[in-house]
Amino acid sequence: MLLKNIEELKNQIKQWKKDGLTVGLVPTMGALHDGHLSLIKKSVATCDKTVVSDFVNPTQFCPGEDLDKYPRTLDADVKLCEENGVDIVFAPSPEEMYGTDTRRSNDFLTYVVPPFFYTNKLCGKTRVGHFDGVCTVVLKLFNIVQPDYAFFGQKDAQQLVVIKKMVKDLNVPVEVVPCPIIREDSGLALSSRNKYLSDEGKENALVLSKILKNIKTLYKKGITDIDALKETAFSFLTAAHELEYLEFVDKTDLEDKKSADDETLVLIALRTDGVRLIDNCILGEE
Ligand code: AMP
Repeated sequence: MLLKNIEELKNQIKQWKKDGLTVGLVPTMGALHDGHLSLIKKSVATCDKTVVSDFVNPTQFCPGEDLDKYPRTLDADVKLCEENGVDIVFAPSPEEMYGTDTRRSNDFLTYVVPPFFYTNKLCGKTRVGHFDGVCTVVLKLFNIVQPDYAFFGQKDAQQLVVIKKMVKDLNVPVEVVPCPIIREDSGLALSSRNKYLSDEGKENALVLSKILKNIKTLYKKGITDIDALKETAFSFLTAAHELEYLEFVDKTDLEDKKSADDETLVLIALRTDGVRLIDNCILGEE
């Protein structure tokens, strides 16, 4: 069932809660692919009822980013959700989520601001304010849906750490369930933004997963020196790649690592074919 109205959704949730049913939430920006589907399947398998939010959240886009051209495929998303046992697709308008009164526009919104230490690095360094927008919309969704479980992809590793921190710090009564990265056979991590890539760009985009795979192989062979690991990564890059960052941080609190270990989260962001792509891996995991 597709709902666009907050009150209608809240009424449905109230009924489910009254019936003692568990609720899972899968927050997305739509343009659903197999990465999203893995979260959806986990929620459907874990919870009595599943809500998928499908909302291109304007407050998490920075000026000059791709808010207007971000792919929107609501009809196909609803069909995919229905085929996979989702109970409600919640697709509000920006006005429904944030109001239309100009005095209540985004500039005047009450924001959730995650700790600077978690957001002044990696994606947060170039996407200033991005995680304020993410936490704000996710907390609003938590308050509307009151899920028992919420499913997030490891694909957006910094987002996952930031959301877990918000949930802990603000005592939000939800269990955050991390889900592994889904990749194409080529290794490319699935992303709605892959739609922007030309065939050549897609080929160039394989460098992210290749670099991460190589770093993991070298780590498993015993190399823990981060400078040495970074150095080998650079040899994969060509003129077609504009590296934004390659960082080694702690998987729980994003603190910079002095040397690589099993808890190390390696994250990469780069631009190719005019598209910004991210990927990551945890060295101690398969
Ligand atoms: P998005 O629609 O890009 O905001 O993503 C919605 C959710 O799907 C987030 O929790 C993402 O981390 C997750 N997700 C996106 N791509 C993948 C992927 N390739 N594998 C697993 N989860 C993903």
